[in-house]
Amino acid sequence: MNTRNGIGMTSQRTRLRMIERLREQGIEDEAVLAAMFEVPRHLFVDEALASRAYDDVSLPINFNQTISRPYIVARMIEVLRAGKPLNRVLEIGTGCGYQAAVLAQVAKEVYTVERVQPLYERARRQLRDMKLRNVSARHADGGIGLPEAAPFDGIIMAAAAPTLPGVLREQLAVGGRMALPLGTQEQWLHRVERDAGGFRETRLEPVKFVPLLTGKA
Ligand code: SAH
Repeated sequence: MNTRNGIGMTSQRTRLRMIERLREQGIEDEAVLAAMFEVPRHLFVDEALASRAYDDVSLPINFNQTISRPYIVARMIEVLRAGKPLNRVLEIGTGCGYQAAVLAQVAKEVYTVERVQPLYERARRQLRDMKLRNVSARHADGGIGLPEAAPFDGIIMAAAAPTLPGVLREQLAVGGRMALPLGTQEQWLHRVERDAGGFRETRLEPVKFVPLLTGKA
C-alpha cells in the first residue's frame, strides 16, 4: 500500500520512472531531468492524492487551481534554460510551489508570485521547510511582473493570458527567455527571446492552463 512515507511514492524508483517517462516525452536537458529527480513532488499535493503525485497528470491544489503535470513543468524549464545556466528567474503563479522548487535547482535566484493568499502561505511554508533559501515567494498580482527584482534571465508564467503582457516582456534581461501559455479557448506554449535587437516569439505546442487573473485574492 502507498502511504505518505511509503516505499511506493517516496522511493527513488518511483521518481526514476517519472524521469524515464519525461525522456520518452522528449525532455532532453539533463539538468532539468536531474532537478525533477531531486524534488519530492508528493510533498506538494494533498495526502489523499500523494499516490498519484508522480503520474503525468495535473492535480487539484484547492481554490480551483492545479499543480501542473510533470511534463509541462519540465518542458517550460527546459525552454527557459536553453541549455544554459540561469541566474535570476521569475515564476508567475506559485500554486503549491512545486515548479518553484524545481527551478531552485537550476537557477541561482528564484522569485515566485501568487495572487491567492492561502496558496501563497502554504507554498512559502513548504519551500521553507525544504530549506530552499534561494526562493523568494511573494503574495502579489504577477500580471505586472515583479519590477523591483527585474530584469530576469527567465520568466515562467504558469497561467494563461490571452496575449503577451507587454510589461512582462520589458522585465526580461537581454539574452533572457520567457515560457508562457497564451490563448483562451485554445492555448499554446510560447517562447519569447530577447536579444540586443529586440524580441522573438515562437509558438511551441498546445497546452492547457488555468487563466491568469488580475488582482490579489
Ligand atoms: N506553478 C504551479 C502551477 C500553478 S497553477 C505548479 O508548480 O504546479 C497557476 C497559479 O497561478 C494558480 O495558483 C493561480 O492562483 C495563479 N495565478 C493566476 N493569475 C495570477 C496572477 N495574476 N498573479 C499571480 N498568480 C496568479
